[in-house]
Amino acid sequence: MLAALINMKVRIISKKQGRLDFVLEDATPAFANALRRAMISEVPTLAIQYVDFHDNGSVMFDEVLAHRLGLIPLSFGIGKMNMPDECKCEGKGCTLCQVVFAAEKTGPGMLLSGDMKSSHKGVAPLDPNFPIVELLGGQSVRFEAVASLGTARKHAKHQAAIVGYQYFVEAEKAKDEELAGLEDCPSGLAEVRGGKVVILDYFKADMKKACRLDSYILQFDENRFIFRVETVSGLAPEDIVLQAAQILGSKAADFARALKDV
Ligand SMILES: [Zn+2]
Repeated sequence: MLAALINMKVRIISKKQGRLDFVLEDATPAFANALRRAMISEVPTLAIQYVDFHDNGSVMFDEVLAHRLGLIPLSFGIGKMNMPDECKCEGKGCTLCQVVFAAEKTGPGMLLSGDMKSSHKGVAPLDPNFPIVELLGGQSVRFEAVASLGTARKHAKHQAAIVGYQYFVEAEKAKDEELAGLEDCPSGLAEVRGGKVVILDYFKADMKKACRLDSYILQFDENRFIFRVETVSGLAPEDIVLQAAQILGSKAADFARALKDV
């Protein structure tokens, strides 16, 4: 198992805005799952934690509005902020671990994420056009919201990405008797072009252990994984993968340190 992990390789399949698909080779299911879980629940993201309302004449209660504010993805520089419990201020709150957003608006009109003014350069809502609440004529809101880093292990609003993975699909030419008993492959998974199997959608392959396509058997390679990482935070998917790998590395180092003390 150690040898397999040492020779791991990563190959990018596609990289579009907000989404990264890659193949992880020569790994184990345990490692792939640890990586997925680290990406989802251990990578810190910035989110609004609490809100001071000076005025709220909107149709929404303070709690509902605060909840909506907490879900706005915020972009920030990685490594430029501290986790509150690891900060010099010891969790009291300071400019190294907190960002304040101030907003003031009177209707009619929609209060948008872009109406919040940030206390930090380089920290802002990922999109300035997230609607927060519609204000009618004469209705107004004024608040200060405080954001800090956190992980989805403590609150789901900090989830960095939606991550899925599955075994790589391989095609093998089969003898007729080997095809007996196998079911047809899910439609849209693959097709045969010029005597070669072309995989159309890797993510349809989790539907069956092995399946039959013309004279081919398609089955999983249990040491190769296709990952799909879709960011739902202010972080780019490639940064999420890298940070998750670093987090796993530091956990392993912690473990090694603890072992020395035994
Ligand atoms: Zn601090």
